[in-house]
Amino acid sequence: MAERPLDVLVVGGGITGAGVARDAAMRGFRTALVERADFAAGTSGRSSRLIHGGLRYLEHGALRLVFEASRERRILLRIAPHLVWPQPFLLPVFAGARVPAWKLAAGFALYDALALLRNVKTHRWLSKRALLRIEPGLRLRGLQGGVRYYDAQCDDARLTLANVRAAHQAGGLVANYVTVESFDVADGRVRGVRAVDVTTGARFGVRAQVVINATGPWSDGLRRDTRALLRPTKGAHVAVLRSRIGNRSAVTLLSPVDGRVMFVLPWGDLAYIGTTDTDFSGDPDDAGVDAADVVYLLRSANAVFPDARLQPSDVVSAWAGVRPLLRPPDERSAAAISREHRVVEDRGLLSVLGGKLTTYRVMAADAVDRAAALLHALDGRPVPPRAPTDREPLPGGETGNLALLVAEMENEGLPRATAEYVVRLHGTEAPAVARLARSNPALAQPVVPGHPALRAQLVHATRRELALTLTDLLMRRTRIFFDVPGHAVAETPALAELIGAELDWSAARKASELAAYVAEVHRHNAFRADLAGRE
Ligand code: FAD
Repeated sequence: MAERPLDVLVVGGGITGAGVARDAAMRGFRTALVERADFAAGTSGRSSRLIHGGLRYLEHGALRLVFEASRERRILLRIAPHLVWPQPFLLPVFAGARVPAWKLAAGFALYDALALLRNVKTHRWLSKRALLRIEPGLRLRGLQGGVRYYDAQCDDARLTLANVRAAHQAGGLVANYVTVESFDVADGRVRGVRAVDVTTGARFGVRAQVVINATGPWSDGLRRDTRALLRPTKGAHVAVLRSRIGNRSAVTLLSPVDGRVMFVLPWGDLAYIGTTDTDFSGDPDDAGVDAADVVYLLRSANAVFPDARLQPSDVVSAWAGVRPLLRPPDERSAAAISREHRVVEDRGLLSVLGGKLTTYRVMAADAVDRAAALLHALDGRPVPPRAPTDREPLPGGETGNLALLVAEMENEGLPRATAEYVVRLHGTEAPAVARLARSNPALAQPVVPGHPALRAQLVHATRRELALTLTDLLMRRTRIFFDVPGHAVAETPALAELIGAELDWSAARKASELAAYVAEVHRHNAFRADLAGRE
């Protein structure tokens, strides 16, 4: 990166920056992407993990956004079928709810229409009996029936990583653990950045014709204009054992606390409940789940699944992220703020602001259109056509038949649950993981007893997926940090040995990796002390 000037330098390795880098590299621009922590360490690894049309945006009349998001859902299911999968949702309807049944009926008809009737399936009204057959744990009082509709779930961190890797495969340079500290400015225009390699402390300059700021909730901080264009909000989730709630599908509910739309979502043996949506003005690095978030989420879920009687002690894991939402022209409540996006230019620096995971491809195309126009204005080069990011599969997504891959993995000797897990994470790259497991019996062992992840997946991630730390591996390459009660801390010394041998870690490095992981565990459990203090 430091050697030759770039056409486009993208700052920020969340879904937005990863999508921009992939798009720019596919258009043939000499492109690089830098991320100061790990890819998806910001908001993009802390979302509700939904690729959704955005049913609730219909309430605010955001028809264009719903139309766009529905199209993106269709595209992502096709280009990354391992990372984005169809998910049936149930929305129970209770007497006296904030949104009356007639309004819901109109909303769902519109939702399907805006997906051009090409969603996984169209919605269906269910009687109270039919609904209870699927979700027997729902509250009976006031239950009138419900709606079954479809959206998609995803692995947000791995979807981000897939775009980073696709950018690399298209010729881009990509690096995590590189922070942009300042801009190089010539004649009033940004012509590059000063950056630091976080792993070595080495400082270097990168020259680029166009720099794109894709730092999500950090974007206003990096812009060269002091006017804040974002109004960030915090969103928190808690995960509990699914057996505690007993939900089979995803359930959409209106929180009885404040009428907001919320979700109870299946995730393997877990169900996660989210999300909150509260104004956030601090440093996004400090956004964590607090006691009030946990109380609100559990109270809302308990009101709809009364037998669950969820307590804070049921929480297996919790996470919070900051939405980089556009500041509305007038003051509105956090939940009503637009999910649209904007590309703005401040003296040669392009910033991509707002948006959501679902529509990242559209944001990326808009940003690269602007970059292409700037490059044309700078040196007269032709503007290339838009990149086929909607047709080229993401790495691992080169198949429409995941069941066949799972069967192949079973033939390789993997138990079914492991085969499904490996295919879900790696898609068509699953055979490479299975080969690793076959090559060394130690790697065929589970990372954590009772969890389907294999040690081979961790080694694969250090070799092929740019994982540099234990936390990268357990939090984002796999979701073991969030999925396993106790965060698998007991296994980490053995894992540090395994990964240390792979990455040539010294004894001191192993110790610091373990300490960093434990620090994350403490940070994500701070709400427990907070709750104890309230009692
Ligand atoms: P980020 O993912 O935050 O990426 C910005 C990156 O920039 C960070 O990784 C950061 O480390 C890096 N960075 C910052 N400063 C520097 C620097 N100086 N140098 C280098 N790198 C830097 N959307 C959906 O479509 N579906 C959902 O279900 C959904 N659920 C959500 C739930 C919650 C609780 C939240 C908070 C958001 C949700 N969203 C959802 C929205 C979506 O997650 C975000 O819009 C999206 O992830 C933002 O991505 P981003 O790349 O812009 O920002």
